[in-house]
Amino acid sequence: MIHKYELITCKIFFTALVFFIFTFHTNCIAVSSGFELKTKYTVIIYDNENILKKFNKEINLGSLSYLLRNKHSFTLEDEVKNKIDVIVERVESILEMFPRALLFSIVLMASDGDVQIMFKNKYGKRVDYIAFYCPKDKTIYLSVRDVSLGVLAHEIAHVIIDHYYDISTPSKIHEILAQYVETHLKD
Ligand SMILES: [Zn+2]
Repeated sequence: MIHKYELITCKIFFTALVFFIFTFHTNCIAVSSGFELKTKYTVIIYDNENILKKFNKEINLGSLSYLLRNKHSFTLEDEVKNKIDVIVERVESILEMFPRALLFSIVLMASDGDVQIMFKNKYGKRVDYIAFYCPKDKTIYLSVRDVSLGVLAHEIAHVIIDHYYDISTPSKIHEILAQYVETHLKD
């Protein structure tokens, strides 16, 4: 599940971005572990274009597609950027929380196994999660094989709640609010 342990304090930093940054594309920067796609609120990190394609395919806005009506998408990268930013704004408006200077990362991983290895490295615990948010890294780690709009919105809710309050929010409250967002996304 994606739910229980997202909020435990992180033990190590995700270091993939530290070395060998080269400009690759207007919006994409090749790094040691792959690429970076910058959006208004996020930096999306992924190993190869197939992972980004899979992510884009799984994030289906459905009845929320109207949110993209004024956005122009010429490339895969444009489409992902536009989707992410409208989802962030949608989650903010459901929560009625609009934190200033919101900036976080999303690491796209090929499978839930990769997510679980990352979690084990950080927290020393075996889990069956398909996604989690690490507050210390300000990063969502998710499996593109398992992601959906609801899963992504749930994790983004954790990010927004984390950024909104100056003090750390009790994990039960975090979870209740994140689940509320997931349930009411398309209201
Ligand atoms: Zn959760």
